[in-house]
Amino acid sequence: MNQKKRIMNKRQKSIWVFGDYRNYYSNRVTLQLLSKAVDLARFISAEVCAIVFGHEIEEWIMEYTAHGADRIFAIDHPSLANYNTENYLAIIEKLVRQRDPDVILIGATDFGREFAPRLAKRLNTGISADCVGLDITEDGLLIQIAPSFGGNMLAEIVTENHRPQMATVRPGTFKEIPHNYERKAIVERLPLKDKLLKSRIRLIEYERATAKEHTIENATVIVCGGRGLSNKKNFRKLDELAKLLGGDVGATRPVVNAGWAAHQALVGQAGKQIKPKILFSFGISGAIQHTAGLGEAQFIIAVNKNQQAAMMKMADVAIVADASDLLGALIKELKKRIRG
Ligand SMILES: Cc1cc2nc3c(=O)[nH]c(=O)nc-3n(C[C@H](O)[C@H](O)[C@H](O)COP(=O)(O)OP(=O)(O)OC[C@H]3O[C@@H](n4cnc5c(N)ncnc54)[C@H](O)[C@@H]3O)c2cc1C
Repeated sequence: MNQKKRIMNKRQKSIWVFGDYRNYYSNRVTLQLLSKAVDLARFISAEVCAIVFGHEIEEWIMEYTAHGADRIFAIDHPSLANYNTENYLAIIEKLVRQRDPDVILIGATDFGREFAPRLAKRLNTGISADCVGLDITEDGLLIQIAPSFGGNMLAEIVTENHRPQMATVRPGTFKEIPHNYERKAIVERLPLKDKLLKSRIRLIEYERATAKEHTIENATVIVCGGRGLSNKKNFRKLDELAKLLGGDVGATRPVVNAGWAAHQALVGQAGKQIKPKILFSFGISGAIQHTAGLGEAQFIIAVNKNQQAAMMKMADVAIVADASDLLGALIKELKKRIRG
């Protein structure tokens, strides 16, 4: 977007958050982004705007208002009931060109990861993918903090010459602010121009995955396992421990690659950011790509046969032991105590 034109028109700054509500109950990334947007907007006196496309979307309008949006761009139309990349892109591109936001934040969900880079390309602007932090300068330059060089460094990226500034952000990176149903927002209900709906994709059928949806980002107890558990049978004992503790199971990448756990359980740079109160870590070395996902774990108990492992050094309690043996013993002891 033309920088000169922006400077000449004294305008209300705005930070937009894309409303990704389709997996709302397992993934509250839009609310987390709204919370961060409120923070950033305060600093540069900007308006926080949420975009909601879909059909029968009143619930989301209410929810985004309660979680910090000042203005909502809403398009409610039966043809938007199901997500369609090309249609969604055409609509949002037009809206962005009309309203000229400073920043657009999108959750790094499957949906956001597909949608956001395409939008950036259409708008001829930059985007940082999978950010794990955001900040802003007084003059509105968004600092996009993202893992780079294989996750060995956190880079601070800025988009100096193009607008809007865009970032996708990992679920779990920010905490949502508590809802306030007294809040009011300006809701702009926009018409949908048929000519924008030119998608080459036709939806034939929509079926929800039957597999249990992991809610690992929101779990308060997580038992996480790595290659040190040796095999799938040992690893699956974590299910039993998680059940006894009322928690969820997380995994490292080699474990996921070996097929011991589903990709949704992956914790770290390429997976989920977790924020449990208690994290058990069995047979995990603590590579930076894994620990990048543990930023908000409050209390870590690590089990490793190598005392020098990075995971042991960052743990609050480090137990030098065989991971499978200790896991088995812990399950046995917990069962005994539960039986009384
Ligand atoms: C671009 C990129 C992205 C990545 N993203 C991720 C990511 O999101 N998440 C992730 O996890 N990884 C990721 N990785 C991989 C990461 O670099 C590490 O390879 C991985 O985290 C190591 O997993 P691990 O700890 O299970 O295995 P290892 O590093 O092999 O560690 C196994 C540990 O188990 C201990 N051990 C062995 N036997 C026993 C035993 N009997 N009892 C107790 N302890 C034992 C060992 O001492 C060792 O510390 C990524 C890599 C790249 C390049």
